[in-house]
Amino acid sequence: MKDLYEPLFRRVLYPAYESGLRRRDTLRYLREYESQQWRSADELAALQWRKLKALIAHCWEQVPLYREWWGEAGLGSPDEIRSREDYARLPVLTKPLIRARAEAMIAPAFRDHLYFKATGGSTGEPLRFGYTRESYERRIAVMFRGYAWAGAHLGQRTTYLWGAPVAAPAGFALFKDRLYHAAFNRSMLNAFDMNEQRMAEYAAAINRFKPETIIAYVGPLVELAQWIERNGYGIHHPQRLLGAAESLHPHQRDVLRRVFGAPAFDTYGCREFMLVASECEAHDGLHLNIDHLHVEFGPLPGADANGPSELIITDLHNYGMPLMRYANGDLGTPGAAACSCGRTLPKLAKVDGRKLDALRLRDGRLVPGEYIVYVFLPVTGVKQYQVVQREHDVLLVRLVPDTNYDPSVHAVIVDGIRKVAGDDVAIEFETVDAIALTASGKRRVTVCELPA
Ligand SMILES: [Zn+2]
Repeated sequence: MKDLYEPLFRRVLYPAYESGLRRRDTLRYLREYESQQWRSADELAALQWRKLKALIAHCWEQVPLYREWWGEAGLGSPDEIRSREDYARLPVLTKPLIRARAEAMIAPAFRDHLYFKATGGSTGEPLRFGYTRESYERRIAVMFRGYAWAGAHLGQRTTYLWGAPVAAPAGFALFKDRLYHAAFNRSMLNAFDMNEQRMAEYAAAINRFKPETIIAYVGPLVELAQWIERNGYGIHHPQRLLGAAESLHPHQRDVLRRVFGAPAFDTYGCREFMLVASECEAHDGLHLNIDHLHVEFGPLPGADANGPSELIITDLHNYGMPLMRYANGDLGTPGAAACSCGRTLPKLAKVDGRKLDALRLRDGRLVPGEYIVYVFLPVTGVKQYQVVQREHDVLLVRLVPDTNYDPSVHAVIVDGIRKVAGDDVAIEFETVDAIALTASGKRRVTVCELPA
């Protein structure tokens, strides 16, 4: 099945579906992006700059908010933006601003042709944003390119451990859904519905479907791997695993490799832009899609410029409701410039969690959730954890105990947290049954409850 279906799907069925039935240009964009990734770093930078300049001029001419806002910031004409440094002086776009001014962010000529999508509302209000058909098709193409770096291709047998709707769709909707996934050679497992019994069902489903690729939220995938290992379950080995929603840590890659006998690849995306960066076969950071997006690393107060920074992203192809210098709320660390794979797209070393979730110290420093992950590395007997900042000097540690839980690990946790947060913080403990995923599939390692 595998050998026949995948090429048939890629060469015949999918092109027919995309170009014929849906009249989409996705495959043409995919070819364009795939050839671009091998250009020299200078050529790519020049291409990105041309795209950015054209978009800036469009926003100035067509998008009321930017004309008003950049004018207030002192810009007299888009020609004054002569370098990336000039661009970095324009104001940063944030979620509250989009909520307040969404209408003024739409270019009138595109108004009637926009698709709309909303971000999950698990933390704060949902955010609604529009994008053009071209920008959507390009996003899909960029996603296919990024997944291909891990060896994952269209039509390959793929299991998703993902955010399926909790209630199964009924009637025709269900039939259509199943048919669609069957045509795409996919099987879906719901990452929001995981407990001991589901783990057994999911492991059995993987053994029945025998995927070549598993694409999954990192937290649930690692928990499934740990369950498989604990129970000595004989699991099918796919060729590769792709993690999403959270960073993959070395200890997680190790358990995934042990259990599934396959390498894991990190990806990073968000609802607003889809795939932003993904890992190649060199397993040394994630290539940023800079021929599609403009990505800046905004420095944090008191932090090292090469350390965790605020991600500020511009979608170079969304002319309908452009997000210019949009801080999506995530922190990331820049990566090495060169890669042994030969692609010249610059790299993101890792994603450091959400800025809003980072613990805030009295001296103004932020402690991203990523640091806390390392505090918990030597901790045993705990299935999940979360550190909540209740007050400046009061942290609550929530633990989901495993069968071999022993409260003596509290001392290890207190020690580790005080190393990063200082000796003055009071640390309380609470055991809970589970720590829920956010709407976008993240398990929040830290939660800051201080007023913004
Ligand atoms: Zn590479």
